[in-house]
Amino acid sequence: MKALVYHGPGKKAWEEKPKPVIKETTDAVVKILKTTICGTDLHIMKGDLPEVAEGRIIGHEGVGIVEEVGSSVSSFKKGDHVIISCVTSCGKCEYCKRGMYSHCTDGGWILGYMIDGCQAEYVRIPHADNSMYHIPAGADEEALVMLSDILPTGFECGVLNGQVKPGDVIAIIGAGPVGMAALLTSQFYTPAEIIVIDTDDNRLAVAKTFGATQTINSADGKAVEKVMELTNNRGVDVAIEAVGLAVTFEMCEAIIGPGGHIANIGVHGKSVTLHLETLWSKNITITTRLVDTVTTAMLFKTVQSGKIQPKKLITHHFKLDQIIEAYDTFGNAANEKALKVILESHTETRKRQ
Ligand SMILES: [Zn+2]
Ligand SMILES: [Zn+2]
Repeated sequence: MKALVYHGPGKKAWEEKPKPVIKETTDAVVKILKTTICGTDLHIMKGDLPEVAEGRIIGHEGVGIVEEVGSSVSSFKKGDHVIISCVTSCGKCEYCKRGMYSHCTDGGWILGYMIDGCQAEYVRIPHADNSMYHIPAGADEEALVMLSDILPTGFECGVLNGQVKPGDVIAIIGAGPVGMAALLTSQFYTPAEIIVIDTDDNRLAVAKTFGATQTINSADGKAVEKVMELTNNRGVDVAIEAVGLAVTFEMCEAIIGPGGHIANIGVHGKSVTLHLETLWSKNITITTRLVDTVTTAMLFKTVQSGKIQPKKLITHHFKLDQIIEAYDTFGNAANEKALKVILESHTETRKRQ
């Protein structure tokens, strides 16, 4: 089969790899119908995650058709249409029992990271019973690709951890796909104001169409002042960090109001300054989380009903074998006005069972 392979920092290739096989009785092998590229994949390609082995197939998001299942898999069979979760979970270990699938002792985020991933014609999914979701007939598979990672990530790490409540003033720093997912799902709780901050005017314009009530371009370095102005100097109730830089995390610390929640989503490669000299008396809460995908089934229902429309995040379409071109587009997101790209396999979708 063909797959997108990481060959060390800055080097990747769409090349021939052996088709995955069942290794454990709990595995499934899935034929990929649609997949996408995540910001995390760009970090891997740059070499920011040196633990990723050369020769690794990248990608942790997608939908497909079950090709084969191991003898212990009971919830899925050959021919089933499935959403692949970015998090693999056994469902049995201590962390899984606590709903922290991301810290599963035999899983967590391993797909396209510690084991071969979804940017390929086929992928092996360990603990298949607990790491995939059925797609009903007639569902929009493209929209459901957003359930593999970005929707649960934005919702669990941003909105749930931030404890967004009706009437809150919330700020989302970073209008990339995950920030947009937080923007869409925060509206379950009807915050009074949603301020989206980014340096890209196009993304801010898109954020407005997704429900942002205010947008601020932070390129001039005055975002904090503007937020304070908008909030009568009170600051926001919830600040969601969806970038992963010191400057954006410290912006959250500067705009958070008394009793507020700073919910970090961003993947941070460097330390940030904790401004306890201003925060010690403010009754604030700072949270961190790796997505557990415990809300995927709930989010699926909201997508199915049209309550949220993550399909609007998809800006570009490619065939799977155009993936190098897709990486160029996604890697140059500001100029290409890219949010999420969909990569589609050439094979026609088989008739549903
Ligand atoms: Zn991702
Ligand atoms: Zn587990």
